This record gives sequence, C-alpha cells and structure tokens, in this order.
Amino acid sequence: MTPVIYKTGMTKLDLFNAVAMRIPEICRLWGIPVPVMHPQPHPQHNRRYGTGGTLFGLYYGNKIWVNVAESSKPVVKRGRAWSFPGNKTDRTASGILFHEFGHHVSACKHMNTQEWRDICKREHVTGYEPVPEEALAETLRVFSSNPELLRLACPKRYAYVTKFVQPWHSATWRQVLQNAPDFIVDNAAKWAKQSDSLQTHNKPLFLKGKTTMTNNETKIKVLSKDHDKTRGKGLALDTLLRCKTVAAFRASLAKKEMGHYVAWALRVAQRDKLVKLEA
Ligand SMILES: [Zn+2]
Repeated sequence: MTPVIYKTGMTKLDLFNAVAMRIPEICRLWGIPVPVMHPQPHPQHNRRYGTGGTLFGLYYGNKIWVNVAESSKPVVKRGRAWSFPGNKTDRTASGILFHEFGHHVSACKHMNTQEWRDICKREHVTGYEPVPEEALAETLRVFSSNPELLRLACPKRYAYVTKFVQPWHSATWRQVLQNAPDFIVDNAAKWAKQSDSLQTHNKPLFLKGKTTMTNNETKIKVLSKDHDKTRGKGLALDTLLRCKTVAAFRASLAKKEMGHYVAWALRVAQRDKLVKLEA
C-alpha cells in the first residue's frame, strides 16, 4: 500500500478520505474489524470532544467520528502551528482519523497494558501523555502514518507496538513528509535524532579512521573545487562543496533522496583533498 502523502490542493475531506480508504486494508493486515468512520462530529457531541487526544475526534464502540470541518489545515508557514499529515504533530483530518483509529487498534489488540504504561513514561510523542490510552493513540497515529519516524524517535514505543502490529507501508519518514515545509522536516529530523539517513542506523560515520561524524556542527572547509565529475555521483560532491556544514549537506542530499551517497561523497572529497572537516 502507498502511504498517505499530502499534496498541495488536497482538502480536509480529501485527507480524511485518503486515510479512510486505506483503513479496511490495514485492518485486514492487522486482523481487526473495520471501524465505521464518519467525517463529521457525533450528533450528540457536536462541540469539542473531551477525549484528550485531538479534541476533534471521538471513538467508541467500533465507531469513529472526525470533525473534518474543524480539523487543522497542513501548515505552510512557520508559526505556532505544527500540524502536517505524517508529522509528529498532526491535527489535520488524517491525523485525527489515525489517532481515533489508534484507539480502535488499542482496544482490539488489548494494548493498554502495564508494560505500556511503564514505556510511555520514558518516551514522549505529544502533550497528551499523562493518560496512557491517549499516549497509545498518539503513538499509533505516528506509527500508522509514518512508522519510520516513530522507530527513530521512540524506539521503545516502536518495539512495543510492533509486538502487536506491523507497519503497513515501508516509505521513509522523509518520503512521507516530502511535501512538508522545510521547518517541519527539520523539526522531524531533530525529533528522529538524525540529520540524514546515515544516522538511521545510529552508526557514527568514520572517515579514514580519523573523523567521527556525529556532530551536526562540523564545518566543511572547501579546499578545492576541482573534482572529476566523470566518476559519477557528481551531484553529491557538488552539494558537499556548496554547503558550509555537514548538517546542511546531509539535509540537502536527503531532499534529493541521495542520503546513501553522503558517506561516499565525504570520503572521496576528503581523499582528494577537496574539503576539510572542522569540528
Ligand atoms: Zn484520543
């Protein structure tokens, strides 16, 4: 299945539907009944819901209500709002639906255990954490929309969730957030404790056995712009030579999904004395 990736022009209802149309298949995969999903508030609870979580959704008895009209729009500019489909913070219609679906999964799989209550004291997703059931719904929201992001940011939570269900898509977190504004991606990277795909495996990058690249502050000093592009992967080297810091270089490469060339480009550039890295 393809992940839900926001595209410019999608309406709130489009976002709801994008998730709703995938949920039956996800339920089949996870061996749980398909909930009934309503894209409007519950008729008897037509104001803000007090269920913690998103304030704009409700779940009980196999039924989900999402107040699509009152849901957040994906953010465009940096400000106080951080909601974006697949992001850590997501009160868009897709995020609310995935949150409420999280309650459904939690109920069907009996996931709110003592083990969970111990885990959720240690790793945090959002501000609804004092209530373990809400922490679970928020965790399952991130797991459902952007599993890699949860795996990197909250490995213990991810390990717990995957005892019950498996990711239903294999996109990277950057692919899920490919149309998000830069500040959202940067913030997600920070949360995921990585500045590029290299750190996905939590391994420091060793360059010629000397430089350990775990520090985003490391500066790139360009020594020479003369390099042979015919060796291929010229883009990685070009990008490296344009950037002032390793973090900027990694971010730039990752956007072009060339993160796996990072180690290569750095190694070659150092070997050929094109750049010097300074802590
Ligand atoms: Zn909730």
